[in-house]
Amino acid sequence: MKISDIFEQREHTFSFEFFPPKDEISAVDFGVNVGQLMKLSPSFVSVTYGAGGSNSERTFALVDYLQNKTGLTVMAHYTCVGASKSKVLEDINYLKSKNIDNLMLLRGDPPKGANDFVPHPDGFAHASELIEKVSTEFKNTFTIGAGCYPEKHPEAETLEQDIRHLKEKTDAGADFLIAQLFFDNNVYFDFVDKVRKAGIRCRVIPGIIPITSYSQVDRFFKLSDAKIPDVLMDKLETAKNNPKRILRIGVDYAIEQCRNLIEGGAPGIHFYTLNKSSATVEIFETIR
Ligand SMILES: Cc1cc2nc3c(=O)[nH]c(=O)nc-3n(C[C@H](O)[C@H](O)[C@H](O)COP(=O)(O)OP(=O)(O)OC[C@H]3O[C@@H](n4cnc5c(N)ncnc54)[C@H](O)[C@@H]3O)c2cc1C
Repeated sequence: MKISDIFEQREHTFSFEFFPPKDEISAVDFGVNVGQLMKLSPSFVSVTYGAGGSNSERTFALVDYLQNKTGLTVMAHYTCVGASKSKVLEDINYLKSKNIDNLMLLRGDPPKGANDFVPHPDGFAHASELIEKVSTEFKNTFTIGAGCYPEKHPEAETLEQDIRHLKEKTDAGADFLIAQLFFDNNVYFDFVDKVRKAGIRCRVIPGIIPITSYSQVDRFFKLSDAKIPDVLMDKLETAKNNPKRILRIGVDYAIEQCRNLIEGGAPGIHFYTLNKSSATVEIFETIR
């Protein structure tokens, strides 16, 4: 099913993001966690694409399985890192042949250690170019999602400049946006105001991640530049040697964050599950 059809039926969507398990042990763990999350009947699920275009076959195998064996609505992430235009078309044709109706189209990050993204000599330099190519070649085959960054993409000089490039993505054919993780809802609401003023009308779905351990704090910040509000940081600092307390603080914060987002007009929540189920299940069941 296309996500655009789900949007027509539902004011809010609740979706889960997974990454392909790396080995057999984590595959078993993944199966258990996905089983728990499936019981919540998410609007759709998405599967990430390996950084630097690595391990694409794992993404393809997992989206094939989820799409054709579970009855879930699936979105495949795809990045154009290291891919020529013809390779991109080959990959997208492959996903189409597996009945995938939804794509999250991204540029991808520079490889580890490199500062700049260098496109394939016969590839795409920006996500907008990838989106334009796929939406032109495949007409209305897919609902297309794109990424957006309420705290600005790290490479962009200003948020305004980043939003101008975001508009290029929606003009090129992106049907909806999913936001990079953030912890301060004011950042999201201000961003949506700016995005609307820039003429972008589509859904901007907030991406939420519950903090479940103290070690994640530093990692999230490095990954996304997401600022952690002082009130949350103070609580985490106080409980830093108490893993159970950290989990409680993180889950309670995410519950309040999701409630406030929905009350403030957000069109749903996309949960970055990190392939774990218990925190997401609790948050989802509480806000539902
Ligand atoms: C919801 C979500 C899901 C993600 N899933 C994955 C995944 O599965 N796998 C993965 O590897 N990564 C994933 N990422 C990370 C993403 O690949 C990186 O953030 C990447 O650095 C940017 O990708 P993009 O599609 O946003 O790029 P773009 O939209 O191309 O933007 C990248 C930068 O280029 C600038 N820019 C855009 N167009 C122009 C232009 N015409 N001229 C000059 N500058 C321009 C933008 O302002 C921005 O600073 C995800 C991100 C999000 C938000």
